[in-house]
Amino acid sequence: MNAKIWLVGAGPGDPELLTLKAVRALREAQVVMIDDLVNPAVLEHCPGARVIAVGKRGGCRSTPQAFIQRLMLRHARQGRCVVRLKGGDPCIFGRGGEEALWLQQRGIEVELVNGITAGLAGATQCGIPLTLRGVSRGVTLVTAHTQDDSELNWAGLTQGGTTLVVYMGVARLGDIRRGLLEAGMAADMPVAMIENASLPSQRECRSTLLEMAMDATAFALRSPAVLVIGEVARQGAVVELVTAAVGVA
Ligand code: SAH
Repeated sequence: MNAKIWLVGAGPGDPELLTLKAVRALREAQVVMIDDLVNPAVLEHCPGARVIAVGKRGGCRSTPQAFIQRLMLRHARQGRCVVRLKGGDPCIFGRGGEEALWLQQRGIEVELVNGITAGLAGATQCGIPLTLRGVSRGVTLVTAHTQDDSELNWAGLTQGGTTLVVYMGVARLGDIRRGLLEAGMAADMPVAMIENASLPSQRECRSTLLEMAMDATAFALRSPAVLVIGEVARQGAVVELVTAAVGVA
């Protein structure tokens, strides 16, 4: 039998943001391996499946990546339909690319299913358009957490002229602030920090580049959160920005 594994994005949290394709994969699944940022409410679509939690954070000890991969492989080789369910999109800071390659090299067919990534959902839920004609001509998704602790290219991020969406940044707010300020980003650049995007527990903290670390502490910002850094995050300013930029009255 041809073994196949679905690598599926579960979206940012709101179960209604799941794609129809993700639902179909879940319905077919016999084994579902679930990351800890996935809202367990989505499991209503796979009542008969065996669910294995393979989260990397939270209260439990992390599950090593190699173990997760071997477990997927074993179930697939035993002929079971396996769904690996990841928060957001599987290929945005989700190791989807690595896992797909590893499985394909072992003769497993892999089908990737997009999910709505947390940065896009967070911005939208706060009414922030990540691109805006005349204001922001693009978006850069970036992780503040690098495998080797190397510095980000702050100058590139500052000069790119795009809205920045920073993942895994809560523990690095001070470094992000310093890096961008030193690279010349305006101290009053608007910043939105969005925790638990798309969930009932969603909270947002509006600040500026200069004050974001201080404001996040006062707000008790917790992971998971994304940061949106750019003019588009200026609170209440979308109407003015659009009017000024494209003349929509
Ligand atoms: N594949 C995921 C990202 C995984 S990396 C995606 O596409 O969304 C984990 C980081 O994602 C967290 O540190 C946080 O920055 C972000 N994140 C995930 N879910 C989130 C949520 N509901 N609200 C805010 N940020 C979230």
